Amino acid sequence: PVELKSRIKDVLNTVFKHKDFKSKHQKQAVAAVAERKRDIFVSFPTGAGKSLVYQLPSLLYGGVSIVVSPLIALITDQVAACQKKGIGCESLNSKLTTAERQRIFEDLRSPQPKIKLLYLTPEGLATDYLQKMIKSLHERNLLAYIIVDEAHCVTHWGHDFRPDYLKLKSLRKLAPSIPWVALTATANAKAQEDIINQLELKKVNIFKSSTFRSNLFYDIIMKDLVQGSAEDHMLRFIRRCLRMDVEKKEKGKKAGEWIGSGIVYCRTRDECAQMAHSFNAAGMPALEYHAGLSTKIRDEVQEKWMKNTVPVIAATIAFGMGIDKPDVRFVIHWTCPSSLSAYYQESGRAGRDGKRSYCRVYYNKGDRNFCNFLVTRELNMLKGKKISDEAKAEQTQAIKAGFEAMLNFCEEPMCRHSAFGKYFGDTVVPCEKHCDTCLHPEEVRKTVDNYQALTSS
Ligand code: ADP
Ligand code: MG
Ligand code: ZN
Repeated sequence: PVELKSRIKDVLNTVFKHKDFKSKHQKQAVAAVAERKRDIFVSFPTGAGKSLVYQLPSLLYGGVSIVVSPLIALITDQVAACQKKGIGCESLNSKLTTAERQRIFEDLRSPQPKIKLLYLTPEGLATDYLQKMIKSLHERNLLAYIIVDEAHCVTHWGHDFRPDYLKLKSLRKLAPSIPWVALTATANAKAQEDIINQLELKKVNIFKSSTFRSNLFYDIIMKDLVQGSAEDHMLRFIRRCLRMDVEKKEKGKKAGEWIGSGIVYCRTRDECAQMAHSFNAAGMPALEYHAGLSTKIRDEVQEKWMKNTVPVIAATIAFGMGIDKPDVRFVIHWTCPSSLSAYYQESGRAGRDGKRSYCRVYYNKGDRNFCNFLVTRELNMLKGKKISDEAKAEQTQAIKAGFEAMLNFCEEPMCRHSAFGKYFGDTVVPCEKHCDTCLHPEEVRKTVDNYQALTSS
């Protein structure tokens, strides 16, 4: 419908202040969601602009949309961004004061709520009071959409399964006939099918764009085969990524100053601390981030990094989910991630602004063994879970497959982008010049041979 189209364009320009859609995929998905005729499944890579796909249509209707998201930190960022745009947006979580909570519920009870988007964690959603509220909104014809962000959390075919996500389908009973939107950045064929089944999406319309992000350059460095120490190797790399050794006249910066920022993922809290310490000692401002620090400190660290006051963060994988920082110029894994889908997501935090950014794994046999240990631990934990044998077998297979794919990625000469494509069931074409193997096939083959020789002896 022409009228709907022009309203969409208008909201895009005036509320979101974007001149145009980021891609034709984004445009088509927004239009389909806005029609409210079918459930929608969206699988676009990180940075493709999935939030807009549900936020924009939610503003076209009189009611409230419920958005489920797995983490409070993620929700806080989204809510702040919406409020800045003048969008009525709130979240209900345990951190609110009684007064804030009352204000939100009062608004939701009113005949015309100002809140357009209400963000919730799945645990928050499970409370009686909220269930009643959703039912009441529906009965008063004030429920626009049910939205499930990071929808891969509902399936063990992903890498971040959250049992609470399985309870979401109970919302169907409270509010039948409301259109659902499920979004994710990481879904292979099995995960996609499972998400659609688990959320009971009806007459679902699927929007999928390629996992390929040509602005990300991927490579693997064998720690034991570099000249000098691997730490120094990494430091030089970081300086290049942040353009610290060049005069940057156009940006009003001198040599030694940095442009953008980056993340170094480490395996333990101690390793984060040591890494940050040795970076600082080498003249590279860095901070540590992990679950062993207080919330206050973690928030401070994140804030300094977000503002580029400190460019480098040495973190465990506790850091990064949902962070929307455009100018992350590198993501380094100092140790091998435990699955290829986890790696795709973690490294995908680089380059959201579309500019050239670097994703690198520093690898050695010790990492392989450590990873093996993590995977074995995960599999043992699975054994103790109260789920059906069938589900257990499937999860076991998923964990093993993700790990095998990650090891292959590190230990075989292959186009890194094609490896993701294959894993996620995309059409696979060599990236040509956006990974080490495509750029220097001979060198990579030689390194792999040397690594094999080194580790088999
Ligand atoms: P995703 O959830 O897919 O990882 P986000 O929704 O967080 O991505 O969006 C990534 C970035 O792209 C955000 O900074 C957002 O403001 C920006 N963005 C989204 N849509 C557009 C658009 N049409 N034009 C320009 N920037 C956009
Ligand atoms: Mg998102
Ligand atoms: Zn390639």
